[in-house]
Amino acid sequence: MRVGIGTDVHPIEAGRPCWVAGLLWDGVDGCEGHSDGDVAAHALCDALLSAAGMGDLGAVFGTGDPRWAGASGITLLAEVRRLLDESGWRVENAAVQVIGNAPKIGTRRAEAQETLSVAVGGPVSVSGTTTDGLGLTGRGEGIAAVATALITQA
Ligand code: MG
Repeated sequence: MRVGIGTDVHPIEAGRPCWVAGLLWDGVDGCEGHSDGDVAAHALCDALLSAAGMGDLGAVFGTGDPRWAGASGITLLAEVRRLLDESGWRVENAAVQVIGNAPKIGTRRAEAQETLSVAVGGPVSVSGTTTDGLGLTGRGEGIAAVATALITQA
């Protein structure tokens, strides 16, 4: 049984589509990034890789690797799941918290949890919080996410 942790932060870019937790959030400015800027999916990838002792997103995908340029967070999660499967790891559960002024996770929590759970192959809890106007997320400069995962060797 192994636990892992992952975090991610991306800067917000006005007018960019907002992908968070595998969902497109209408009317919310999204994040810049090598891919779709889905901080929740990226933090989850890192938590899963961390639990398995397989490094991190940068090591596995490489920001310079054209195969993953523009890849969605869900695509990256599916690949991480495949790598864990290959090594005999099963996802017991995972949790991700999105930190920012928007999107409001609670309005689509069930949909977000379903989307991420399918990608990960185990139950994923999704929550949201703000920083009361403090820091880069509070000033609306970026969105952050922190995630944990528990995996077991099948
Ligand atoms: Mg990222």
